[in-house]
Order: sequence, then structure tokens, then C-alpha cells
Amino acid sequence: VAEPALGTLGQAGVTLADVGGLASVKKRLDLSFLTPLRNPELSREFGKSLRGGLLLWGPPGCGKTFIARALAGELGASFYEIGLSDVLDMWIGSSERNLRSIFDTARRNRPCVLFFDEMDALGQKRSNLRGGGSAMRGVVNQMLSELDGASTENDGLFVLGASNHPWDIDSALLRPGRFDRTVLVLPPDVEGREAILRLHLRGRPTERLDLAKIARATDGMSGADLALVCEQATETAMEESMGSGRVVPITQRHLQEAAKSVRPSIGEW
Ligand code: ATP
Repeated sequence: VAEPALGTLGQAGVTLADVGGLASVKKRLDLSFLTPLRNPELSREFGKSLRGGLLLWGPPGCGKTFIARALAGELGASFYEIGLSDVLDMWIGSSERNLRSIFDTARRNRPCVLFFDEMDALGQKRSNLRGGGSAMRGVVNQMLSELDGASTENDGLFVLGASNHPWDIDSALLRPGRFDRTVLVLPPDVEGREAILRLHLRGRPTERLDLAKIARATDGMSGADLALVCEQATETAMEESMGSGRVVPITQRHLQEAAKSVRPSIGEW
């Protein structure tokens, strides 16, 4: 696929099995998208529609983008990721044109998961568009008309959004049929942390590890922080391997030291 002017488009490369923890979020995705798609007769029976978007919200680095990408992997769909603040252009009319071309690209690449990060950019609070509030209205209306598009046109198009501050999003976008289903993506609990550590160490040389212990020592860390812990431990093991001329596996100590040096990034969310 040709790289679109805005955002990135490509294959997902991951599935829900690559997402650690977040069992209730996965269940929700399953009920909203996967089960209805795999059971078209049952969906017809219940009048279950596949329309409308899903909004993932919560603190940074806890897997909103990752899980949207994994949904694309499950669906065998392409994954098209857009930062909404890049779409907004101060020139009247350009933001609407940008949005239209994004939806056109996504429709050409169906099945496609279209993922909008920074959904809160579509709200009055962040409006620094020329023309202020009324310019923002125009962009929100464009988004609504794309979402409400003729059913066949949007078949195979799955729209997901993410935000750290959903209360700033224009409320028209959250009404039924739009981003009406919201899913909170929280920092991982202790089992989630252990699963994330295991996933990020997969395929790397390690000694026998007590990951439950590392998980207990990393309370407050996001998935992104835990990925960094694994990265740092890996770098130390590689450095020691270079020094000793043999493969030194990642040890409990490498991980403990990395966990001490990484600061939880969620802070005052
Ligand atoms: P932001 O709000 O800053 O956009 P986000 O919630 O979208 O953050 P991601 O970009 O999905 O966070 O996560 C960053 C990285 O952290 C991922 O690419 C992945 O490596 C790791 N990660 C986060 N959560 C998980 C998880 N539950 N399982 C495995 N890896 C995770």
C-alpha cells in the first residue's frame, strides 16, 4: 500500500494474544466485533449491528494503541493509525478535507481498523483553529457524516478512538451510533504485569526467572514502562555478553535493576 499523506497504514503484526492482562477489555472487543462477525446469523437474529465506533480511554502507555492494532490482527484487517491533532489544520475547510481523504483511504483498504489517537483534539477546549468554535463544529460534523456513512460504504471499516481526556471530546461524537461504546484501559494489575513482562521477554535468552516477583515490585507501571524494563535488562545482558564473549542470558538481577531504574510514567493522570 502507498503511504497515505496522513498517519500510518500497514499490517497489524500482532493479535490479542500479544496483549498482556486487560482481560475485560479483550472480552469487550470480542463481544463488540469478533463474535458478531464470526456469527453473522446470530447477529441478524439479535439485530446486532456492527456500526458505531469504540472509544478506548485511560492513562498513557497502557495499551490503547496496541490493543486496537491487535484487533486489526484478529480481523485480518489493515491498521490505519491517525493522530487527530495532525488532521486539524488552521485553514478553514482543510481539516474536513483531511478527514475525508483518511476515510477514503481506509475504505479503499478494507477490511480496515481506522484508529484515531488523541480524540480529545476534537473538542472546544483544544480548539486553536482559525474561526474557533464554529471551525471545530465543521470538523466534528465531517467526522459524524463519515461515521454515519451509507452502510455498505462502511462495511468492513472498524473505527476506534483513544483519549487520555475523554471529557474534553465533543459530546456529539459520543452519542449512540458514534463512539458510543467506551472502554476504560487501566494500568495492569499484578497478573497483567507478569503477563506483559513474559510477552516482552519472549524469544530472548533468559535464566529461570521469577517474574511474579518483578511484577510485585513494579506496581504503578504501565505496559510501556514494563516494555522499557525488559529493554533495559536486555541491553545489560547484551553488554555483558559482549564483554565475556558468550551469550549471558537475562537474569533476575538484570530485571530487578532495570525495574529500579525505570520511573513509572503514569503519574498524576
Ligand atoms: P498513549 O495514551 O500514550 O497513546 P497507549 O495507551 O496507546 O498510550 P500503547 O502505545 O498502546 O499505549 O503502548 C505502548 C507500548 O507499551 C506498546 O507498544 C507495548 O509494547 C507496550 N504495552 C502497553 N500495554 C501493553 C499490554 N497490555 N501488553 C503488552 N504490551 C503492552
